[in-house]
Amino acid sequence: MNEKPVKNVISLSGGKDSTAMLLMMLEKNMPVDLILFCDTGKEFPAMLRHIDKLEKYIERPIIRLKAEKEYDYYLYQHKAKSKKHSNDIDYGWPFSNGTNRWCTSRLKTDVINKYLRELNKNYTVKQYVGIAADEPKRIKNKIYPLYDFGVTEKEALRYCYEKGFDWEGLYEIFDRVSCWCCPFQSIDNLTDSIINAVGYERFCEAKM
Ligand code: SF4
Repeated sequence: MNEKPVKNVISLSGGKDSTAMLLMMLEKNMPVDLILFCDTGKEFPAMLRHIDKLEKYIERPIIRLKAEKEYDYYLYQHKAKSKKHSNDIDYGWPFSNGTNRWCTSRLKTDVINKYLRELNKNYTVKQYVGIAADEPKRIKNKIYPLYDFGVTEKEALRYCYEKGFDWEGLYEIFDRVSCWCCPFQSIDNLTDSIINAVGYERFCEAKM
């Protein structure tokens, strides 16, 4: 029986860890066949510009994926049976929380998994994820080069800065630079972050 050829697929969130992982892998001549970036529709404009810049720098295409329905649809329009009154329909889901992280599944993992399922029909997919050496709890059953290299989150950010990637200062304001409205900001700066994020979003839009 013929074995399926291997595809080495990079999951690029666009943050410091996955960016550092990709750059380091290329630097070490590790195999990179496909690079996937899933846009949730709530990315910072600076993040989208970072992806464009990275693509130019590595001189390879970055495949942009997006869910069919957007964040705002699930938040305001999605129909669901009311939990309070069984005959009623509620519109929209509440913000994600510790037990229901619908935005991650609907806007990211489902989209990437659908793409990978198709790819899996003809290839053996090896998926590479940017988890730093100081996040061992997040290690599961994929390939984690940053973890294997012993690179911490702090070192990953420093490495990216040294390569000229600064996300236009996002990491100077935020702990996380995924969705600008993410409810999983650290408790310490949640309020500040949301206020800053909205302001920052408008600032970035004005610059576009
Ligand atoms: S970054 Fe936050 S808001 Fe965006 S998909 Fe992930 S958990 Fe949801």
